[in-house]
Amino acid sequence: MCQHQPPCPAADAADHNAARLVAYHPEQGWGLLCNRVIVFDDSGELLPEGRTAAARRPRTELTAAAVATSR
Ligand SMILES: [Zn+2]
Repeated sequence: MCQHQPPCPAADAADHNAARLVAYHPEQGWGLLCNRVIVFDDSGELLPEGRTAAARRPRTELTAAAVATSR
């Protein structure tokens, strides 16, 4: 469960990729968001229900977010 304040958007919310990054594996090219959405370096997404979303964000955006989170 999300314990952030304000809470992260749900996996089925339109802004679900605004959830906090809770795990990031740059060597494997993916990260896990707080709402259990898996995001890939090419900005593709794998939703908890198994749905996928096509890449639509530039690769640098996830990398920058991961760097900011790890500080
Ligand atoms: Zn959260």
